[in-house]
Amino acid sequence: MKIAVAAETRDGEARVALVPELVGKLTALGYDVAVEPGAGMHALLSDDEYVEVGATVEADAIADADVVVSVQPLDVDRIRRLRRGSATVSFLPTTFEQAVVVDLRDCGITAFAMELVPRISRAQSMDALSSQALVAGYRSAIVAAGMLRRFFPLNMTAAGTVQPADVVVLGAGVAGLQAIATSKRLGAVVRAYDVRAAAAEEIRSVGAKSIDLELETLEGSGGYAREMTEDRAARQRDLLAPYIAAADALITTAAVPGRQAPMLVTAAMVEQMKPGSVVVDLAAETGGNVEGSVPGEVVRIGNAQVWGGRNVPSQMPGPASRLYAQNVVNLVTLMTREGAFAPDFDDEIVAGSCVTHDGAVRHEPTRTALEGEPA
Ligand code: NAD
Repeated sequence: MKIAVAAETRDGEARVALVPELVGKLTALGYDVAVEPGAGMHALLSDDEYVEVGATVEADAIADADVVVSVQPLDVDRIRRLRRGSATVSFLPTTFEQAVVVDLRDCGITAFAMELVPRISRAQSMDALSSQALVAGYRSAIVAAGMLRRFFPLNMTAAGTVQPADVVVLGAGVAGLQAIATSKRLGAVVRAYDVRAAAAEEIRSVGAKSIDLELETLEGSGGYAREMTEDRAARQRDLLAPYIAAADALITTAAVPGRQAPMLVTAAMVEQMKPGSVVVDLAAETGGNVEGSVPGEVVRIGNAQVWGGRNVPSQMPGPASRLYAQNVVNLVTLMTREGAFAPDFDDEIVAGSCVTHDGAVRHEPTRTALEGEPA
């Protein structure tokens, strides 16, 4: 049985799906591990480090592999080089990657999407959305602290007292809570808001003040947020405006599964911020929480520098790869029986994360999008 680690080919992707530290876990399960040359290069992992722990480095590693692991989905050329019946494990945002899904289906590949792993407690160790959101949330606070040309913490010195920075965080899921905790550790005064009822307690537990807008909370299924009505969104923006105007740094992390990111902050609200303020929009790539933010760029709106996130976990490729690799190893382990790759489709984690199998699209919403409603 062979696992191949694909070199990432998409622009800006610096992570790698398996790190040398975890190769031993797969060889212990009975797999041979083959790595495409340079696969770990951008995460500062050399081919030699993989060889030292028992992997091979092969230019055509994917062609005869049983399972190919990657961070981004494989491109179409490489899917066509895979053996029929083999499996892929990667992020696979099916809404945006329909051509890839069609190829995986037509080439008879069993494809698993890390973002579809159900968020149940048994699958926490396979939850790559959470592990990568942790990295993005930490990075967002560090970016804000780096761009802000003043201290985050209070400093009481013989030369006088320097007041701490005021940081506002919108969205307190995995990334937002990590942004809050990191900003707190750096000494800022942090206020945060989230639409979920449980969020206020979670915000306080990481040391921030929860902003109470006295609006109804918005709970969707599975503990996620629901989409706002336009009226609710407008009221939320009005009530948040004074908090944002008073902030030195604003970090936005809000998302609603399967939807464009909610627009929480208009350009007019950013224009009310003080000279030297910074805004970090982690949701820039999925539509943006902040009007006018651009993924991968810093733009100026009024007095503020607005940083738009683009593949933020990849900006810390070492730790992001290590965490992602552990998620992948745990999922592959779940699907291994007696040294063979044998996914059990009666297991809700396996069934839930499978997109294509045996020439068919198994993920219901994707099948409907591609093939229409069943007759
Ligand atoms: P996410 O990335 O989908 O969204 C980020 C945050 O944005 C969420 O907290 C959401 O409530 C918030 N949000 C959405 N619309 C908003 C708005 N209009 N204004 C302000 N905030 C808004 O969420 P996530 O970080 O992936 O996780 C969301 C929830 O799922 C959390 O409660 C988290 O603890 C839970 N979770 C559970 C598991 C598990 O059980 N295995 C794993 C991960 C996360």
